[in-house]
Amino acid sequence: MWYHFEEGSSFSQGALKLSARVLNGIAIRDQIYGELKQEIAALGAAGIRPGLAAVLVGENPASQIYVRSKIAACEQLGLGSWLHTPSAAVTTEEMLSLVAELNARDDVDGILVQLPLPPQVDTKAVLEAVDPAKDVDGFHPVNLGRLVSGRAGLVACTPAGCMEILRRSGIAVEGANAAVVGRSDIVGKPMALLLVHANATVTICHSKTRDLAGVVRQADIVVAAIGRAAMIEPEWVRPGATVIDVGTTRVTDAAQVERIFANYPARLAQFREKGFTLVGDVHPDVAEVAGAITPVPGGVGPLTIAMLMSNTVKAARLRRTPKASTNTPPNTTSNTASMKTPGAAAAKS
Ligand code: NDP
Repeated sequence: MWYHFEEGSSFSQGALKLSARVLNGIAIRDQIYGELKQEIAALGAAGIRPGLAAVLVGENPASQIYVRSKIAACEQLGLGSWLHTPSAAVTTEEMLSLVAELNARDDVDGILVQLPLPPQVDTKAVLEAVDPAKDVDGFHPVNLGRLVSGRAGLVACTPAGCMEILRRSGIAVEGANAAVVGRSDIVGKPMALLLVHANATVTICHSKTRDLAGVVRQADIVVAAIGRAAMIEPEWVRPGATVIDVGTTRVTDAAQVERIFANYPARLAQFREKGFTLVGDVHPDVAEVAGAITPVPGGVGPLTIAMLMSNTVKAARLRRTPKASTNTPPNTTSNTASMKTPGAAAAKS
């Protein structure tokens, strides 16, 4: 069956003919927000307003956009939010002192240090200084360790969001062959671990993988987290496979955009108007082969922010409600809900 999506829909590719089911990240995000609002209201009744402190160093335009949308999401959900904007000349010591201050504040449940930090700042030292109970990005080694051992904790937002897409779209993960392309600490590795906990058989691919196309072709579920526009071609994908496209590359080169979106005149028109377009790691023509696919934009991106909100609410519940500190099941929006974690411990450090 062919589906046509109208221009103006957030994931429209123009006159795209899709055989794949589009996994609409915006609709899934809205579903999660609906659930979070109830949890936030319940916490509010107990006098708790979850809050997120964002630290944005310098004036990187992309970071400014990301942080702005995270603060806007807090406002939309009624969470507290604070924005700290040290100058690009900030030192590691100053960053550590800011993090210590935020760690000590009871009204701050989540601390988000927007990356990248300037080169003079020791990024690892700053991330490791964040209280693991407030580490809503899930980057702290304590939370990574919990993920490795299948215990409840705060999980990196993007892979957590990918799991939500799979779970809420009814994609069978147990027993599936999954290929994760990319092995970064913030996407590829935690993604692979979450899939393993959900009983998939996982292959982690990277720049040294031999016959990448052949490995990807074996997969029932492909997660692309590479950062190379349209790299995964239709011939790489097994017909009917589920494809989760994490990649977002801002492409301004007209020749490249014309090559990638040759079959998508509306998308080309959009590009000519704006002068850039966001391109996933998966070639748009893969939608004619896959069984289900996330669009770019409008797929994984909205889930990343939704999971940040979910982690902030979860951190507040675990840290500030006394009974939540032990034997509390992960909340419904957490990927850990779909993990096989017998005897999972609580996330409070
Ligand atoms: P990194 O650059 O940290 O990692 C990229 C990974 O891709 C590496 O493991 C690298 O392998 C692998 N890789 C690079 N080139 C190839 C190749 N030719 N063949 C196979 N593997 C390759 O990126 P991130 O994980 O941080 O991000 C990946 C993408 O996801 C980016 O486009 C980023 O913008 C996007 N992203 C999107 C988010 C969202 O919310 N939608 C959130 C986070 C990221 P090796 O290890 O060997 O170098």
